[in-house]
Amino acid sequence: MENKSNRIASSEIINTAEPYYYNKLIYNIHELLSRYTFIQSIIIGNSVLGKSIPCIKIGKGSNVVLYHAGIHANEWITSLLMMKFIENFCIAYEENNNMHGFNIRDLYNRTTLYIVPMVNPDGIDLVTGNIPQDSKIFDNYRQIATSFPNIPFPDGWKANFNGVDLNLQFPAEWEEAKRIKYAQGFNKPAPRDYVGEGPLTEPEALALYNFTLAHNPKLTISYHTQGEVIFWQYLDYKPTNALEIATKFSELSGYNIEEVPLNSSFAGYKDWFIAQYNKPGYTIEAGLRRKSVTPFPI
Ligand SMILES: [Zn+2]
Repeated sequence: MENKSNRIASSEIINTAEPYYYNKLIYNIHELLSRYTFIQSIIIGNSVLGKSIPCIKIGKGSNVVLYHAGIHANEWITSLLMMKFIENFCIAYEENNNMHGFNIRDLYNRTTLYIVPMVNPDGIDLVTGNIPQDSKIFDNYRQIATSFPNIPFPDGWKANFNGVDLNLQFPAEWEEAKRIKYAQGFNKPAPRDYVGEGPLTEPEALALYNFTLAHNPKLTISYHTQGEVIFWQYLDYKPTNALEIATKFSELSGYNIEEVPLNSSFAGYKDWFIAQYNKPGYTIEAGLRRKSVTPFPI
């Protein structure tokens, strides 16, 4: 009981009113771990600039689920979304409450939820103004961006430090993604849409790939911010229950279920997951669609 009253007396950890970046993520994870001892943190790999990429583990059940967010730099609000979700889950667990009609302690026992809240910490630090403009690192980003003057800098930056789009790095018709993106002019390191020199050349993408293979999730969700859309398909794969679950997501969120435009249909994490496992994998485009500016504001 003493713990409970302490928790209520102290304020919530995740502040959704301010931009989110790597140091804040790490600080918040430490705070969450010390307050909520029933969750754990795992390092799944490192970014190009050597930042460790954390994953939060919640639960101990056999039903393994994996979410990730913040793979595109200027979509950092998804990292904040994941962290707030984790905190809300923790509060509900501690108070033995329900969330959306589910008893959280029951879910905790039946499910193991892995959440990688920030796959691309280097890129997110650039977009959120956490790289000093007189630094060599900033200069490297700026040089890549110079070749693409139509993409706002740094607001239009989605890639990692090497100028590779991490969601075009997965072995699902990667050659086809390369053909399409090269034809659009993204044939070298760029703020977005450059596929890299091969699948999984970038450490952030490789880390997520290896972590997935090690844990064999039954379902994955990739969080992006195009706004109010759910994607569930890859080629002609029809994973069992995939559309039914997408329909539930749609009913709960009000988001539309849409078909992926052909130009964005290959080499994404979701695409690879569906092809690899033939299980439900989703891209959820968070944010309000009418605010279609980049980066999406909080
Ligand atoms: Zn995205």
